Amino acid sequence: MQSFHPPRRILMGPGPSDVSPRVLAALARPTIGHLDPAFQSLMEEIKSSLGRLFNAPDHACVPLPAPGTAGMEAAIMNLLEPGDRAVIAINGAFGGRMADMADRAGAEVTKVEFDWGLPVDPHQIEEALKSGPVKVLAFVHAETSTGVRSDAATLCGLARKYGALSIVDCVTSLGGITVDVAAWDADVVYSGTQKCLSAPPGLSPIALSPRAQKAITGRKTKVRNWLLDFNLLMSYWGGEGGRTYHHTAPINALYGLHESLVALFEEGQQAVMVRHARTHEALAAGLEAMGLKFLVAEASRLPQLNTILVPEGVDEAAVRAHVLKAWDLELGAGLGPLKGKVWRIGLMGSSATPWHVRLCLTALAEALAAQGFKADVAAAQAAADAKLID
Ligand SMILES: *Cc1c(COP(=O)(O)O)cnc(C)c1O
Repeated sequence: MQSFHPPRRILMGPGPSDVSPRVLAALARPTIGHLDPAFQSLMEEIKSSLGRLFNAPDHACVPLPAPGTAGMEAAIMNLLEPGDRAVIAINGAFGGRMADMADRAGAEVTKVEFDWGLPVDPHQIEEALKSGPVKVLAFVHAETSTGVRSDAATLCGLARKYGALSIVDCVTSLGGITVDVAAWDADVVYSGTQKCLSAPPGLSPIALSPRAQKAITGRKTKVRNWLLDFNLLMSYWGGEGGRTYHHTAPINALYGLHESLVALFEEGQQAVMVRHARTHEALAAGLEAMGLKFLVAEASRLPQLNTILVPEGVDEAAVRAHVLKAWDLELGAGLGPLKGKVWRIGLMGSSATPWHVRLCLTALAEALAAQGFKADVAAAQAAADAKLID
């Protein structure tokens, strides 16, 4: 065997995003014990900074020791018991994953489905909530498979109106667009580290409301998975009264998350949102000047995930292969019904910079030209630059 040295890459797909040198340096600091007092104070600081980032002062906020899907599984498995009714909005790959999990939890699942590329329609959700007692309404705030933003405030409001607990997938939204758990009055909200937080994958920040915690402690049956059972997990992350061993926290991964949060608050939450919005506007102007089109209508586009339609006669995979080989640039492919039909260009966290926008436009224009699609790269750069000037 030999040491593994990854190739240099620029990450502009649907996650992971580029990890900054300061986060990589934090990951390499010496491992200490997970019950060491110094580590416990790091855990407390991560909990409180996640509460600040989610704007969830009354929620219990912890990072789960596994990727974003673990947050999804924890939310579904802790809130749903066999026979409970769940309404699940599906407007892309991740809504479908939630419905599969709810089915495995033994819940009676009502799926409300939308075409890929559209946001969740609150009217159709209200129709489903009206039809009887519902325990949980689950939806994706930022659908990474399509690049669509749904209206979390309205959907969480509907859950409250009909007495359901809300589960909101904020894996791609947290750190890229506004996530305001208190204003939404949301119950369980989870995220991941490798999208707009720009830490490596492997952790899932989650926030649980007092209502959600009460529902979990009052369950009639045990949570079906052990690692993510919130009742057990909080004996470890709860703080007061001393911690008891539950699992061994991924210590160095938490150094990385902590550093990414320090960087985020140094820059300022508002400034981070503005940077994502501006780089998106520049990229969009450049792509449109090249003659490319978005899948999603402007009003519901995510700045951090740009889904671009592959023009007639262009080979989707060949373009991605070209930019990877010639520019070390990773772009995302389409999933499910969008396979072969779109590219997904991420502007997440450390990858949301003017430099990334310019590089992407140049690389894409070159790859398209190799396929016989004439893209005016000078016009694209000028259109992008116009959006980046103060
Ligand atoms: C990436 C993603 C997930 C899953 O996260 P993993 O870290 O890949 O497990 C879930 N939901 C959405 C919206 C995502 O973008």
